[in-house]
Amino acid sequence: MSTNFFKDNNDLKFYVEKQIDWEPLIELTEYKYKKKDGFKNSKEALNFYKGVLDSIGEFSAKEVSPLASQIDLEHPYLENGVVKFPQVLENIFNKIKKLELYGMCLPTEVGGMNCPFLVFMLSNEIFARADVSVTAHYGFHGGMAMAMLLFSIMEGTTTFDPKKMEIQKTRFQDYIKEIIDGDAWGSMDITEPGAGSDMAALTTQGYQDDKGNWFVDGQKIFITSGHAKYHFVIARTEKRDSDDAFSGLKGLSMFLVPAFEIDKKKKRTHLATFDGVEDKMGHHGSATVSINFKKSPAYLIGQRGDGFKLMLQIMNNARVGVGFESLGICEAAYRMAKSYASKRESMGKTIDQHEMIADYLDEMYSDIQGIRALAVQGAYHEEMAQKLNLMLKFMPPEKESEKKDIEKKQKYHQERSRHLTPLLKYLASEKAVEISRRCIQIHGGYGYITEIGAEKLLRDAMVLPIYEGTSQIQSLMSMKDNLMGILKDPKKFLEKNAAAYIQTIRAPSPIYRRVAKLQILSYKALQFLMIKLAGKKFSEMTKKPFSEWESFFKEWDPKKDFAIAMLHAERLTRIIADVAIVELLANQAQKFPEREEVLSRYLERAENRCKFLYNEITKTGAGLLERLSVKGKIKN
Ligand SMILES: Cc1cc2nc3c(=O)[nH]c(=O)nc-3n(C[C@H](O)[C@H](O)[C@H](O)COP(=O)(O)OP(=O)(O)OC[C@H]3O[C@@H](n4cnc5c(N)ncnc54)[C@H](O)[C@@H]3O)c2cc1C
Repeated sequence: MSTNFFKDNNDLKFYVEKQIDWEPLIELTEYKYKKKDGFKNSKEALNFYKGVLDSIGEFSAKEVSPLASQIDLEHPYLENGVVKFPQVLENIFNKIKKLELYGMCLPTEVGGMNCPFLVFMLSNEIFARADVSVTAHYGFHGGMAMAMLLFSIMEGTTTFDPKKMEIQKTRFQDYIKEIIDGDAWGSMDITEPGAGSDMAALTTQGYQDDKGNWFVDGQKIFITSGHAKYHFVIARTEKRDSDDAFSGLKGLSMFLVPAFEIDKKKKRTHLATFDGVEDKMGHHGSATVSINFKKSPAYLIGQRGDGFKLMLQIMNNARVGVGFESLGICEAAYRMAKSYASKRESMGKTIDQHEMIADYLDEMYSDIQGIRALAVQGAYHEEMAQKLNLMLKFMPPEKESEKKDIEKKQKYHQERSRHLTPLLKYLASEKAVEISRRCIQIHGGYGYITEIGAEKLLRDAMVLPIYEGTSQIQSLMSMKDNLMGILKDPKKFLEKNAAAYIQTIRAPSPIYRRVAKLQILSYKALQFLMIKLAGKKFSEMTKKPFSEWESFFKEWDPKKDFAIAMLHAERLTRIIADVAIVELLANQAQKFPEREEVLSRYLERAENRCKFLYNEITKTGAGLLERLSVKGKIKN
């Protein structure tokens, strides 16, 4: 049995010790080492981060993992309007509090450890390998305190002293302190009984009284750690102004709503009511709560109508977080399956020596390495983009040329993060389900028996493709971004295509030529969809008078005109995710020759998978779209 989930993971350590470009990230986190009480150089800082990961690795292996089956059996429950946790979880949360992990990424001046968010993400994987529901609960502390700080910075209620390199004041300072101390936590309340993916249909109301005080009315359901004291609530403040299904997004605002207050005598006054804790398939250590707000006092964040925009700011981080949670489950499932297969004998040898099982295990491991490349890079770009943004806001360089340089870097990281995040959320969560299901299969009958723990992993994994934006929503986002990117800048797309063609001939070795060929396959898939969409648009155009062509073309609306692309969005996302991974692994292999084997193993599978998906995109679906177009209903 492992005694440290960080130390025993060579692939994870490769990133921390070799691959991650820490220097720029640490410079931004430590304000170029000028911060009072900060680290003096990147080596010092990195040693500290490694120490943090090391202690989380040990804590997860020794004190969380052995309790996973007990956590699974003993659930949180509602008693007299208060959500209670079983002792086993209370003990774990108290230990996390003692380790001071709830303030891991918050600046020291508000009481945190000032670690990069990337360290928090890596810790999510380590925790999730022990028990993913503990990760969820832990994340709704520090993650929500970070959101309070970020929102306050965005709305301009945080002041910063550039001489001391310190935050002077921030709007939710007291709440942040409570969270860091482990005495409170937050939740993100979006979903309602009638609206989940379709945020434009949310109906919870935000309104003001004569004195300008804000209140919130409505019901939110399925809220992780929804027994929190501090709720970020998305509520409607403006009416939907047309029949357009998406217009409702503009009328949403973001509020911070305390669900209760506790006075000095520890008397609790409810400002919202917890209706119940859901009984669910897995994630038993995390409370999933429904909440009723009735004239609950609320604090508007930013401006009216900013709700969707503000939510997107933290949603990217949350989705990257799910990528790391998924990795944790994949790692646990793979290790459990591998260990069992190396001992279980069948027909004269251990089952890991039977070709099919060996192939499963090989693919599971290769997938994990690919997802980790995507996760680390996605998290890195997201954090760099956010930190460069803060630098431009609080400490813009005096020289215009330097400012432009930072703006350029910020845009680059933001674009990369936007590209990689839906791919990561999609692929990692789907793979967590696939890999934990394989873990059961490799265990045979034992896999189906609760005591073994394999089926728990699958039950825990099943929610990952659902929350923080379903797999289908991730696919739609990725597809739209890729196709709109081509529409906006077709020249860039052609240049990328041409560069890949050149690489198929000139790349230094056959393996890099194969990488280029896979890139071309993804461009061909995109091209196919573009041609289909344009063909449909052009045929509609020919029915219109010439004078209307220009405005007709400008009205190209992805929400209405992308039917074939929407049909194939998931297939396209799988191809683009594989290409993104292969590109990352190829970059690693050029720098670290020992990683060429990782690339080679991933590429072998990705090439054939992508060809299959490409064929599905180009050869299927016409009949379904035809049937769907008949009065908008499918005729079977
Ligand atoms: C354990 C758990 C924890 C959760 N935690 C939170 C939380 O902390 N905060 C919060 O606000 N919510 C939370 N949720 C809710 C979760 O985010 C939603 O369930 C999710 O967003 C999906 O919404 P829905 O359930 O309404 O499904 P729907 O939106 O009704 O979707 C149903 C199905 O239709 C698909 N679908 C919907 N629209 C489209 C489309 N345009 N194209 C193709 N397919 C589509 C979906 O992908 C899905 O497969 C949690 C849920 C669970 C189970």
